[in-house]
Amino acid sequence: MKRVYNFSAGPSMLPEPVLKRAAEEMLDYKGSGQSVMEMSHRSKIFESIITECEERLRRVMHIPSNYKVLFLQGGASSQFAMIPLNLMNGSGRADFVITGQWAKKAFAEASRYGKCTAVASSADKTFTYIPKLDPSTFDKDADYFYICLNNTIYGTKWTELPETGDVPLVADISSCILSEPLDVSKFGLLFAGAQKNIGPAGLTVVIIREDLVGHARDITPTMFNYQTHVDHNSMYNTPPCYSIYICKLVLEWLEEMGGVEKMAEINREKAKILYDFLDSSKLFHGTVEKEYRSLMNVPFVTGNDELDKKFVKEAEAAGFVNLKGHRTVGGMRASIYNAMPIQGVKDLVAFMKDFEAKNA
Ligand SMILES: *Cc1c(COP(=O)(O)O)cnc(C)c1O
Repeated sequence: MKRVYNFSAGPSMLPEPVLKRAAEEMLDYKGSGQSVMEMSHRSKIFESIITECEERLRRVMHIPSNYKVLFLQGGASSQFAMIPLNLMNGSGRADFVITGQWAKKAFAEASRYGKCTAVASSADKTFTYIPKLDPSTFDKDADYFYICLNNTIYGTKWTELPETGDVPLVADISSCILSEPLDVSKFGLLFAGAQKNIGPAGLTVVIIREDLVGHARDITPTMFNYQTHVDHNSMYNTPPCYSIYICKLVLEWLEEMGGVEKMAEINREKAKILYDFLDSSKLFHGTVEKEYRSLMNVPFVTGNDELDKKFVKEAEAAGFVNLKGHRTVGGMRASIYNAMPIQGVKDLVAFMKDFEAKNA
């Protein structure tokens, strides 16, 4: 068996011990005589899985007790509608910072439900930085203030959170959840599609402050009302059972590794190896302003489209897959989420050095 190093932005690599555990437990989960995919979500045994998954997530993220944790479906993209339906219930206005495609999509969707204002944007330089904010331009009566904490496509991350006062801060953390410590108490709502850093596709994690639940508009579909899922502990209907189970295994692995704090150390080390090489290379260079570099998604180019293509092709043949950059940026992008081992990044850099020697 030969496994590749998968640098995909998502779905992405899962830790090998997690896949092995899932394989071992596939036919007979803990003596139940069935796989987790087959069992009733109302069974005691599945209840123990979802309960443990929530407990572990609360522990590793230090989630305060006045926050609810929800395991939903519909991907991060459904949250683009669910958030305004549930939160845009006072002034009917919200502030956004446009730092990439995902923030743009969230802004467009929320604009269908209320008045959205882009208080800042980095579109002028293809989203290669996080814009400086002027808090005097923030709407004091906004129902929420929206950011995308790590910009998966462009490879930037926020280094400092906006000061929004009493206005709840909402953040898309799809591509940075569990990558480094985050003070949950600074946010009104956090959400993440699982398929980047926490499990397989099909699961969306929402962390919401209690007081923000229960004010959805009357027209809100039952399934899009946070209250529905809070009332039923994410089991109003059939939850994404298998994805929740894998998420639980990922959290177990993470805790064994030393938690989010230790993960952050490893992630900084991995990112440094790649960025240091990009900064010293005569062929490759990073596309993002240094200050805002993401720990998770690293876009880079040679400056020559043909050479970029050649690199992606040869890298794939050598077992480094999905390095092609997003179509709006071009070049390459290496997504180095929690499950990417340090060795994967070291080997990639060695391969890049070799390619540079042959092509510079
Ligand atoms: C991938 C991604 C999304 C979209 O997630 P889906 O689960 O496919 O809807 C949204 N926001 C960010 C930051 C992402 O990386």
